[in-house]
Amino acid sequence: PSITRGVTVEIPKVSWEDIGGLRDLKKKLQQAVEWPIKHSAAFSRLGVSPIRGILLHGPPGCSKTTLAKAAAHAAQASFFSLRFIYFVNSGAELYSMYVGEGEALLRNTFQRARLAAPSIIFFDEADVVAGKRGGNSSNSTTVGERLLSTLLTEMDGLEEAKRILVLAATNRPHAIDAALMRPGRFDLVLYVPPPDLEARYEILGVHTRNMKIQDDVDLRRLAEDTELFTGAELEGLCREAGMVALRENISATVVCNRHFQTVKESLKPALTKEEID
Ligand code: ATP
Repeated sequence: PSITRGVTVEIPKVSWEDIGGLRDLKKKLQQAVEWPIKHSAAFSRLGVSPIRGILLHGPPGCSKTTLAKAAAHAAQASFFSLRFIYFVNSGAELYSMYVGEGEALLRNTFQRARLAAPSIIFFDEADVVAGKRGGNSSNSTTVGERLLSTLLTEMDGLEEAKRILVLAATNRPHAIDAALMRPGRFDLVLYVPPPDLEARYEILGVHTRNMKIQDDVDLRRLAEDTELFTGAELEGLCREAGMVALRENISATVVCNRHFQTVKESLKPALTKEEID
């Protein structure tokens, strides 16, 4: 991938099969992302206008970014990933760029996405870009507000034929400005939940498929014992079990149940029951 001033461009390699669980969600994304790109003629024929923006929300580490990448992979779309790093300094938001640079970056990204279409523009931690206006800042237009109005202008300017879709991910959907939720902007809002039992089993399968594991490793049992674990934590558990095996014996040929158990017992999931109910 080439990295130009905070923007990464690539056609991601991750596919739907790399994501455990979330069957319905994957289907919805397939229809919203793949169909307009692969079957744009059918949309024109019926006069159906495709969705321009999708908001993914849910707890950290539950595959929002990975879903966006898998959608781009399936559609063979260029994937522009944008992240605005900012620092909170005594209540004031200081973007890590000069005044006006953020807007230029946004406009430039949409421009490049048009040239590279089909494209997906992905905003990670979208609330940073699209946070509600009218905070308690004394400036009438903050950096965040100007970024937001640039984003609104760009999204309104997307023509259907250009096959560009905006995806955004956030852990705080309530921090998204209401203007972005109007028709023609983020028309599809999808909750990405923490994995249930079946999804955890599949996630463990995904992250052990290239590992040499001993017969005594019971992934179903492990899935049952990892309630509240996110996909990211399950991935970490598998990797760490491998590390434990190697620390025990650098010539080890397999990872055994006891390695998984050692790691599992040392981990405490970040999510709580209250958060997901
Ligand atoms: P954040 O809100 O922190 O950005 P996120 O929801 O975007 O998190 P990802 O970055 O997509 O989560 O996932 C983090 C890691 O966890 C990825 O490396 C991914 O492989 C793994 N992971 C999460 N959920 C799943 C899943 N359902 N199947 C397989 N791997 C998963």
